[in-house]
Amino acid sequence: MNGRRFLSIGECMVELSQAGDGLLRKGFAGDTFNTAWYARACLGPDWSVDYFTALGDDAMSDEMAAFIAGAGIGTNLIRRIKGKTPGLYMINLKNGERSFSYWRDSSAARSLAADPDHLREAVESAEVIYFSGITLAILPQEDAATLLSEIRRAKAVGKLVVFDPNIRPRLWSSYDVMHTTISEGARSSVLVMPSFDDEAAHFGDDSIEATIHRYRALGALDVVVKNGADGVNLNFGGEESFVPAEKVEKVVDTTSAGDSFNGAFLARYLETQDAPAAARFAAKVAARVVSEHGALVAKEKLGLRGR
Ligand code: ADP
Repeated sequence: MNGRRFLSIGECMVELSQAGDGLLRKGFAGDTFNTAWYARACLGPDWSVDYFTALGDDAMSDEMAAFIAGAGIGTNLIRRIKGKTPGLYMINLKNGERSFSYWRDSSAARSLAADPDHLREAVESAEVIYFSGITLAILPQEDAATLLSEIRRAKAVGKLVVFDPNIRPRLWSSYDVMHTTISEGARSSVLVMPSFDDEAAHFGDDSIEATIHRYRALGALDVVVKNGADGVNLNFGGEESFVPAEKVEKVVDTTSAGDSFNGAFLARYLETQDAPAAARFAAKVAARVVSEHGALVAKEKLGLRGR
């Protein structure tokens, strides 16, 4: 194996979507997995991308692991837990409106940080560590603390730790726990990549500047605030810039817009250290993603040329 590893930590779920005539189509998706997918599609061959989660020992866990590996993403760090199964969600369509039902309360991924030695080895093996507010939300509180302490160690030794708050109030036991834990996630990270609508709704930020200021005041060095069709605002070590979104003819499905932006941004940023250029590239990739159905758009459709 080569030396440069991007490690994404979180939960991938079985996805069931409507396929017409009452039939359901099976897929696999989840925020941190989606980002790993796009990072893999955009990074060169000198990088390995690994997914860190826990799966069960059933057929669906095997199928998911095979799917992840099939995308060129490493599965060697995935722990298997006897008697467990992956989480599941279903996309419902009613009069053109999408809604989601989840069955994830007892998923294997909830135990992803239950083996601290295994977690430490994985984090130590990587140069870049990516996680989200959803990763923290699904963990028992003591395991979230274990994960955050490993994340802080990684930051302390100079690794690039990246956090997307991805705020989902339904996953948290209370607003208080959510605010405290997400703030701790950001404090433990180098780069925070929030979406402004979530931050305004759940932290009460009245401007993008307020979001940037809050995360930098907590201790994040760099912040990228995504704001849908209105583009992204960056603050890297105090230096500010704005990158507009790409024009999209017809928005088909915004699922995983933010996840794909993060994966593409990080891939380009790791190779160039040029944050505004990485954001321009990521805006192009995300524009393709919102123009297609589904969370995971195939590499061939991303217009990456030569990768
Ligand atoms: P999230 O999916 O996390 O809420 P956003 O909605 O901010 O994130 O979208 C992430 C990125 O996807 C944006 O920064 C932009 O580049 C792209 N994007 C999202 N919606 C559109 C749109 N309607 N037109 C063009 N680009 C879009």
